[in-house]
Amino acid sequence: MRIAIDIDSTLHHYWDVLSDAARRRFGIDLPYEEQFDWGITRLKPKQLEVCIEETHSDEAILAAEPYPGAVGAVRRWHEAGHFIHVTSHRRDRCHPATEQWLHRIGLPFDELYCSFDKVARCREIGIDLLIDDSPVNLQHAIDAGIAVATLRHPWNAELCEIEDVIWADDWPGLERALAPLLDGAPRA
Ligand SMILES: [Mg+2]
Repeated sequence: MRIAIDIDSTLHHYWDVLSDAARRRFGIDLPYEEQFDWGITRLKPKQLEVCIEETHSDEAILAAEPYPGAVGAVRRWHEAGHFIHVTSHRRDRCHPATEQWLHRIGLPFDELYCSFDKVARCREIGIDLLIDDSPVNLQHAIDAGIAVATLRHPWNAELCEIEDVIWADDWPGLERALAPLLDGAPRA
């Protein structure tokens, strides 16, 4: 299978990094538990942009720690012959640091894509499964006939209820939930 995997809030806990930046720069709290909407309304658009830029500095990218079980699961899928496309809503200039980070944490991948047209790219290269936390991306992928999976977060819990989303609260759970789809599936 051809698998696309998002980074922020999928491979590592991005929320704390973003909310730290919001608190430090603007004195605004973004409690994870209350983040029911994908839109981040407590910050003005320009403030949000500044915070995201900070979280995508080379230093911040390299400092991220993966969720427990994430690297092992992806390594097992890669060793089983599945194609791994790592995809992140980041500027192209983040590519070198992101690649260095993937090597640092030991996550095997066939391709890294830092851009703002994630699902369009997934369609272009024939992705079978997208793992992403964004309800917007999940919905677009469902509409495109791509299987979807996610870690459950407050902002995508409702979509997990109503749509055909494979989900779990952590990576070991996600690996188990995806086993029926991936085990015995044709290799990419
Ligand atoms: Mg994400």
